[in-house]
Amino acid sequence: MVIPTKPHAALLASPGLGHLIPMIQLANRLTTHHSFHVTIFVVSMDPNLNISTLLPNQSNYTNSTLYDLIVLPYVDSSTQMGPTDKIMTRLAIMMRDYIPSLRSELGSMEHNPTLLVVDLFGTEFLNLANEFNMVKYVYIPSNAWFLAETICVPHLDKQVKHVGPLYIPGCKRVEYDDILDPVFDPENRDYDEYVRIAIDIGTADGLLVNTWEELEPKTLSSLRNNKKLREMFNKPVYPVGPLVRPVRPECLGGELLMWLNNQPKESVLYVSFGSGGTLSSKQTIELAWGLEKSKQKFIWVLRPPIEHDGAGALFHAMEGQDQAISQYLPDGFLTQISNLGKVIPMWAPQTEILAHPSIGGFISHCGWNSTLESLSSGVPIIAWPLYAEQNMNAALMDEEIGVAIRPKVLPTKGLVSREEIKNMIIKIMVDVEGFEIRRRVKEVKKCAKKALTIEGSTCKWFAQLAKNCEIKLRSQSQKAEEMAVGHINIIN
Ligand code: UDP
Repeated sequence: MVIPTKPHAALLASPGLGHLIPMIQLANRLTTHHSFHVTIFVVSMDPNLNISTLLPNQSNYTNSTLYDLIVLPYVDSSTQMGPTDKIMTRLAIMMRDYIPSLRSELGSMEHNPTLLVVDLFGTEFLNLANEFNMVKYVYIPSNAWFLAETICVPHLDKQVKHVGPLYIPGCKRVEYDDILDPVFDPENRDYDEYVRIAIDIGTADGLLVNTWEELEPKTLSSLRNNKKLREMFNKPVYPVGPLVRPVRPECLGGELLMWLNNQPKESVLYVSFGSGGTLSSKQTIELAWGLEKSKQKFIWVLRPPIEHDGAGALFHAMEGQDQAISQYLPDGFLTQISNLGKVIPMWAPQTEILAHPSIGGFISHCGWNSTLESLSSGVPIIAWPLYAEQNMNAALMDEEIGVAIRPKVLPTKGLVSREEIKNMIIKIMVDVEGFEIRRRVKEVKKCAKKALTIEGSTCKWFAQLAKNCEIKLRSQSQKAEEMAVGHINIIN
């Protein structure tokens, strides 16, 4: 195998756009700022998936000249999944089947990769880094507080049923309603998978987290210095965020851009539930009337409703795109709001919309990418968490960072009424009560920008990461030379 002159990073993305997009942003950063050669390996749930259909509006996300993108050949794992298996178990089963194919890809590469980065669902691939003498990191495309919770999970008593908050040494406690679902159900395989993942991440050389030093100073400090937390986990944590897709003005055009350009500054609410979030039919109707009653301008990215599954579109972001949106909306709604808002089916250029000066608020499911995109654009949030760690993200934004409000009832546990929706919109967009939130989010925007500058905290952590990889690269070169000499000696 040839040893390259610059570090080569192999990044593995688990299924789902919410996992692929942050890996692409990490790749962008490693190639453009730290001279890495990067290959992204993608695991897909779709046998027909190829690079050209990987992402909606492909060119908005990928720049194929910066890195290589390889979709691993599809493996069907469906027969191994039971009807009660939840999302974490399903992802873990799926990923496991791809270990041989990544091994064979790594083995056949012309340039020996120096660094392996996997996400939370790829931790079982860390052993491959040992086989190929690579540095190994787990990338948490979420916040440090979620990481701290995850680290604590194997240390919880499986026998004790949770009835109250979860206490994390040195960190903000996680309220009962915000604790991740698998923790409540030790009989379910999701619990075992979550515990295994938490243990696996302790075997990495370090963790990359999509946050930044100044956003979560207390949690990051506890992860490094709190004695009790260090007893559970003692690896370096690198806050490398906010890694968000850069705004490309050319992605927002036509009628939507013209409409946005004609609206007053910070007067439009953007509504989207990410790549996977879905609402019930009843909730869709309430949201429609809540928007209408608020009398605020809006852009609503609408998906077909799905009953009892907030993550209904997670692996099928574009399913249902051929259906007419009017069938999910109240009769006459589209005509009634024609001067007030825009309803866009399925998918919109989110980062570009959020960055437009007319946007003044975001109803978001609080997926971590969407949350960071909102912070980076200085847009306050109405948090509407639906699945995964989104309750924690929402709590963090509301209680700790001070840039969001939440409905009284968790959207996963009850119906959010049109009246409450209207009140939240007015509060965040125009009310004096929302002033402090609007001020605070602009402060956070500045702070995010600063972290990414050459003097900023994130740059410092990336430099450290690059240094670790250069040391490994030198050791790989040395080993290769020794092997070559040994080979010559044997021949002689
Ligand atoms: N996204 C987008 N347009 C949409 C919906 C989502 O560009 O209409 C992007 C969004 O900008 C973000 C990602 O998809 O980068 C969603 O990731 P997130 O972590 O917010 O949520 P997930 O989809 O993983 O639940």
